[in-house]
Amino acid sequence: MNYMSTEQTQTDIIPAVMQAMVLEKAGGRLAASTLAVPKPGPTQVLVKVMACGICRTDLHVIDGELPHPKLPLVPGHEIVGTVVRTGRNITTLKAGDMVGIPWLGYTCGACRYCLRQQENLCENALFTGYTIDGGYAEYTVAYEQYCFQMGSQYACPAGAPLLCAGLIGYRSYTMIGPHVTRLGIYGFGAAAHIIIQVARHQHIEVYAFTRDGDRRAQEFALAQGAVWAGGASDVPPALLDAAIIFAPAGELIPLALRSIDKGGVVVCGGIHMSNIPSFPYRLLWEERIIRSVANLSRKDGHDFLDLAPRIPIRTEIQHFPLLQANEALEAFRKGDVSGAAVLVM
Ligand SMILES: [Zn+2]
Ligand SMILES: [Zn+2]
Repeated sequence: MNYMSTEQTQTDIIPAVMQAMVLEKAGGRLAASTLAVPKPGPTQVLVKVMACGICRTDLHVIDGELPHPKLPLVPGHEIVGTVVRTGRNITTLKAGDMVGIPWLGYTCGACRYCLRQQENLCENALFTGYTIDGGYAEYTVAYEQYCFQMGSQYACPAGAPLLCAGLIGYRSYTMIGPHVTRLGIYGFGAAAHIIIQVARHQHIEVYAFTRDGDRRAQEFALAQGAVWAGGASDVPPALLDAAIIFAPAGELIPLALRSIDKGGVVVCGGIHMSNIPSFPYRLLWEERIIRSVANLSRKDGHDFLDLAPRIPIRTEIQHFPLLQANEALEAFRKGDVSGAAVLVM
């Protein structure tokens, strides 16, 4: 079969091979590799990657804290790029479109979760940069129905963090419940620096909690508009209505419960956390709630990407070249990045 004849469009000269940063086995460093440029399946598009954000989940995957990654794997799930080739059953995207590719890479549409509008919990989901290859590469393929069209304002490296820090942050934010005027955010990194802009837009005060003694992160939070910033074990000056925990530290849960009012919600926004220490029931008593957030739905993505330019959300990013992905991950791990780290191709 002539492969080219099945293609709907081809506008670019697409090379046969590409540079990628590859995880060979969990617990290792990424290896700079030359891979074949992937070919899109019938419902996929080939995307030339412009930028790919670094997310804490990438560290969890690389460190082996999440089970059963695809191996070898190209990590990365905050991808902004240009469609350069389309599979034969593509209906909406065309070559030249700027798209964003998020963590949710595919759902089955048929399992009980998909059928009740909880596709974020799909039993057969595929996740970008975890169970399918992601964006630490010059090219990637993605299922058309899971790509977002990126408006001109975000069709750039600064748009990349919206695709996970923004989307998962926003899903977490939608779960804080009604009647919130004071919101605590534990862990003031990429997600927090986006969600504080949504909260302020909706006249909610943000109280930022960082690692104890991390003055730089606290100053960053205040510069972003937090009304108060302190260490995780500090008691905030006012009782909070809800809290979101973005840091992967289980010991933050009892600290957050201690800081919220009756009926308040503590939302855990991460995919992995260290163990939660035991705590007295009185911290949970009076209808306080602890809940997690898993993945995202496409609706979350459309809602958030509609809202973002109206605020408008701006991201603070630090660029790294693709081949310095290991160095970027280490800087991120140490907390040496203000805002979001983004690989730029
Ligand atoms: Zn499903
Ligand atoms: Zn992520």
